[in-house]
Amino acid sequence: MESLDFDVIICGGGPGGSTCAMGFVDTNIRVAVIEKSNFPREKVCGDGVASYVPKALNMISPKFGKAFNEFSGKFPITHVGIYAYNGKSARIPFPESWFISTRYELDNFLYQQASAMPNVTFFLEEQIQNVSITEAGASITTDKNRTFTGKLLIGADGATSVVRRQLTDYKIDPANHCAAVRAYYTGVTGVAGDTYEVHYVDKYPNGYFWIFPSTDNQVNIGFGVLSDDVVLQKLKLRDVLLEIIEDSPTLKKRFENAKLVSDIKGWSIPLGYDQYPISGDRFMLIGDAASLADPSTGEGIGQAIVSGRIAAFQAKNCFKENNFSATILQDYNTAIYNKFGRIHKKRHYYTRLITKNKWLLNATMSLLNSHQAIANTTWKYILRLAS
Ligand SMILES: Cc1cc2nc3c(=O)[nH]c(=O)nc-3n(C[C@H](O)[C@H](O)[C@H](O)COP(=O)(O)OP(=O)(O)OC[C@H]3O[C@@H](n4cnc5c(N)ncnc54)[C@H](O)[C@@H]3O)c2cc1C
Repeated sequence: MESLDFDVIICGGGPGGSTCAMGFVDTNIRVAVIEKSNFPREKVCGDGVASYVPKALNMISPKFGKAFNEFSGKFPITHVGIYAYNGKSARIPFPESWFISTRYELDNFLYQQASAMPNVTFFLEEQIQNVSITEAGASITTDKNRTFTGKLLIGADGATSVVRRQLTDYKIDPANHCAAVRAYYTGVTGVAGDTYEVHYVDKYPNGYFWIFPSTDNQVNIGFGVLSDDVVLQKLKLRDVLLEIIEDSPTLKKRFENAKLVSDIKGWSIPLGYDQYPISGDRFMLIGDAASLADPSTGEGIGQAIVSGRIAAFQAKNCFKENNFSATILQDYNTAIYNKFGRIHKKRHYYTRLITKNKWLLNATMSLLNSHQAIANTTWKYILRLAS
């Protein structure tokens, strides 16, 4: 078995893993990123990117912030259209633009930034199989019959993380976990190129249906719901997605001449409501591997990027102190929970409030629908409540 030694081993090269690698810019820390696929590659997603992502990249290094601003594989989203359970809707402006970038483009962009660094080596099309931590260091073995050793391990391997499964006692909690499907269509009418559409569906209150504009005249549509509901109601999400369009007279009309141009694909989203173990001796978990997705929307790209940045910051501290113990890595937990814990708890609370009291959303959207001036200033207040 071939053996390779690095300082840091990052398991997974998605937004979390690549950004974490970028966090070692201008250091001599030798980083290996092990990724089972290759880039560019598709990833099941709504492709919505949070407004704070450029700032997070800029905090790592202004050159990454600049690269993101110049990155042509994205376009801005300035509004969200919220459709309540009763069909009433309001179009609300974001205080700062969000973005759309297909994961084919975005993940490749982040990979390009990280892999251009002299101290970062990507090992692509290589799957991590076993992970172990000893007093001497961290090691992983892969399907290419190789062992990678290092002082610190970062689990960035997504919702089904091998690192998390092998190093913590985390078990999926279906009440705090979401399942979602997405598909690309052409020919959907009434789509504004600058607006995320979020539709709440009476029959499935613990989830939502979305229509996001995409590139090449396509739209990304999808449906996500709590895994609890999937199990209890035996939902087949691909069927539910088509049923939602068929059952809504408005959507049905908008999809009359639409054409499905992709497979309908599903994946899971571990929501960040509870506090799970996200570090221990010689390891940290980031992004979906740490259950950091927003419990109200299921968005997790921004959280993966921010937690990747924070993990790299913490890792550099560990090297400075030559200490990789669970005790020092508690600082990482604190930083993550300070960043996301309270906000996610609030968002979880407001989401449950709305799903249990549908009239609240119905009444709010009716009001905003007839008072566009109020709608224009609403997002500020929603954000204040939820942050
Ligand atoms: C249908 C759907 C829609 C979504 N829409 C949005 C959205 O619009 N906006 C948003 O912000 N979030 C969205 N999300 C959530 C978002 O996709 C995730 O939160 C985000 O991808 C997390 O990034 P990550 O880097 O932690 O993990 P990932 O993006 O999953 O990356 C993990 C990487 O690890 C690799 N990997 C996994 N296992 C191994 C292994 N054993 N060995 C080697 N490599 C491995 C994978 O190939 C992958 O490249 C959506 C999710 C779903 C399912």
